[in-house]
Amino acid sequence: MMVLPTISYWRAKRYYYNMVGSVCRSCGREFFPPVKVCPVCGSRDIEQKLMPQMGRLITYTITRQLGSSFKRFRPITFGLVELDNGVKVLGQLVDFMDEQLREGIRVRMVIRRLREDGEDGVIFYGYKFTPDEP
Ligand SMILES: [Zn+2]
Repeated sequence: MMVLPTISYWRAKRYYYNMVGSVCRSCGREFFPPVKVCPVCGSRDIEQKLMPQMGRLITYTITRQLGSSFKRFRPITFGLVELDNGVKVLGQLVDFMDEQLREGIRVRMVIRRLREDGEDGVIFYGYKFTPDEP
């Protein structure tokens, strides 16, 4: 999950919080983040579409070197997820035991706290993924 500066975060909030992407009405391909022009067929006939909350974990990586605002979460595991509509997104993996994590497992999107912004205490939320199997 990309962390955005405050102003653009609020502007983009509806897209990230709800995971609103877009679909091309000409070729049917779906995109996240949303696009205005289809990169596949060049059409501008695009409409917003909610992305599916389920997908498959393609691969993952454990990150131990992160900035101070992430300290409380370290180490962090990021996964590349292919949603059920074929769109690939990068997101943090949460709420799992190490033995659950395998490439190819089903995952489900959850909304979780991303970080707090300094003393103002603005709390950022965004999508993360958790295993959806025992
Ligand atoms: Zn298209």
